Amino acid sequence: MSIVIVGAGQAGLQIAESLRRGGYEGRVLLLGDESFAPYQRPPLSKKYLADDMADERLQFRPVEQLTKQNIEFRPLTTVTAIDRAAGEVVLASGERVAYEGLALTTGTRVRPLPVPGAEHPAVCYLRGLDDAKRLRSQLASAARVLVIGGGFIGLEVAATARHAGKTVTVVETLDRLMARAVAPVVSEYFAELHRGHGVELRFKVALTAIAGNPDGSLTATLSDGSTVDADLLVAGIGVLPNQELAAAAGLECANGIVVDEFARTSDPRIVAAGDCTWHINRRFAAPLRLESVQNAVDQGKIAAQSLLGNAVPYQDLPWFWSDQYDVKLQMVGLSQAHDSLVVRGAPESAAFSVFYFKAGELLGVDSINRPAEHMLARKLMSLGISPSPDAVADTGFDLKTLLPAP
Ligand code: ADP
Repeated sequence: MSIVIVGAGQAGLQIAESLRRGGYEGRVLLLGDESFAPYQRPPLSKKYLADDMADERLQFRPVEQLTKQNIEFRPLTTVTAIDRAAGEVVLASGERVAYEGLALTTGTRVRPLPVPGAEHPAVCYLRGLDDAKRLRSQLASAARVLVIGGGFIGLEVAATARHAGKTVTVVETLDRLMARAVAPVVSEYFAELHRGHGVELRFKVALTAIAGNPDGSLTATLSDGSTVDADLLVAGIGVLPNQELAAAAGLECANGIVVDEFARTSDPRIVAAGDCTWHINRRFAAPLRLESVQNAVDQGKIAAQSLLGNAVPYQDLPWFWSDQYDVKLQMVGLSQAHDSLVVRGAPESAAFSVFYFKAGELLGVDSINRPAEHMLARKLMSLGISPSPDAVADTGFDLKTLLPAP
């Protein structure tokens, strides 16, 4: 008996350990194509990039702790095919590994810049630890940094680079920051925050070309014809799900590997979890793809249960965070479909929350420097308690009183 897990990121590790915790006694193989043992990704654009965190602290566990749980972790191991008929995965080395159950936790890869000159050596991306090491070392010797993409990665890198004293320009094609996830009032707050720290923000322009200069720097041309000279260009324009392996094996894929609410793919022996899945969460009517620690952990647990023969539906509440300078943005729920919002507290005070509603029902809350309110919102939402917009707007009203008595 053996279960093979393809992808040794947070979701893969979660499945391996949940299998053991759930009493699975067969072989567990955790295969990863990177050279590192499973590590945390969120610090890569923050503390790690700021050179404020040792490699060992990124790692979830020393490898011995995996061995102790009888998890066979294999780094530098790429799976090239899934032979579903034989019940085997094929490795790049040609080796075949048999499985009773298979988990795909293949994650995402960065979306490459679609412009001429993008292969210039001063162009960096940020996804894995290898990327972070390269970016960190190039950042150290750069004076002018150009960030393409005003999303989470781009802005966290911009804040870190600015903190290190670099000149920073951010180029965003849309008219505001983090538009995919937050309301204009939050975008505006962060735009002011970055400007206040001396970052130049350029909206509604796209990068069109990159040209190298004899001194090793580059000149970026933007869609309005202007140019920006930089020693380092960091692209954070989103990610693509790694679903080719699944698709080639005939598994259903959409914007990610399609799984049901039990993290099962279209093959009952194969589950998938984490950033690579196009999944069903019982809380929401439509399928979704999430790039978050929360999804890796919670969906990983569901996937492990399915492999153990227990059908536990996925219904966890999404949450997410971003750190920029000394500001913490924490999000819970999915707010995109809101028809009204209430700002609790004042953005000028640098501590406020935005409560998003649809037809009077709370969809999600973004908190800026209000960690207690974020935790309270998570508690309320997970209990299905929806405060009224009026209650939220009344800062004299203590939202905690809505919780059931202990
Ligand atoms: P990431 O995880 O990379 O931060 P996001 O989706 O949060 O992903 O942010 C990516 C941002 O990049 C979005 O705000 C998007 O509008 C922006 N973007 C996408 N393509 C370009 C481009 N060619 N030039 C500038 N910005 C772009």
